[in-house]
Amino acid sequence: HAWRLAYRDELTQLPNRRALEDALRSRPTRWSLGMLDVDHFKKFNDQWGHDVGDQVLRRVATALAGVSGRGRAFRYGGEEFAIVFPHDDLERAGDVLDTVRTRIAETPFRIRGQRSGAEERGKKTDTPEHTITVSAGLARGEGDAVVTFKRADDALYKAKKKGRNRLVCGD
Ligand code: GH3
Ligand code: MG
Ligand code: MG
Repeated sequence: HAWRLAYRDELTQLPNRRALEDALRSRPTRWSLGMLDVDHFKKFNDQWGHDVGDQVLRRVATALAGVSGRGRAFRYGGEEFAIVFPHDDLERAGDVLDTVRTRIAETPFRIRGQRSGAEERGKKTDTPEHTITVSAGLARGEGDAVVTFKRADDALYKAKKKGRNRLVCGD
């Protein structure tokens, strides 16, 4: 129980930043790091409220938790997530990240409890769909984890600048 409290993020049930720092202390020689950030996340909070923002984070976390290719997902903080791969094959890690990015973008998000206008007027329709997207940056793991984070973060920043909902691979 104490371990869960210390190492697990309560909202998303992903391992938290402390767990990430721990994992990186015993990282393999070859590794790589993906940093992901929800696009325009503030908009979900502002338009629909903090609870809906939380639903978005849970949704993204679930997708990342199921990531393939030996990647391990962590909630880095706020709407930022990290995926650590125990290898430095950037092509392979990039494929994995891009697959999960696409899956998130293609899964419609319906806000629980939200009714469309048509439904309120007595017509049976689905609740409106929203799209969640994430941007991602990838970097090859260095001996220095801080340098690696900086590179992944720089790549993520480029993904945002290029228009979001994409992966940029650093090196
Ligand atoms: P960008 O596409 O550039 O990433 O834009 P953004 O809106 O996602 O980024 P910004 O950094 O402006 O907003 C992040 C917001 O995330 C601000 C903060 O209030 C919110 N946030 C951080 N942690 C949580 C949380 O646990 N739950 C909810 N609902 N919101 C959170
Ligand atoms: Mg952010
Ligand atoms: Mg964001």
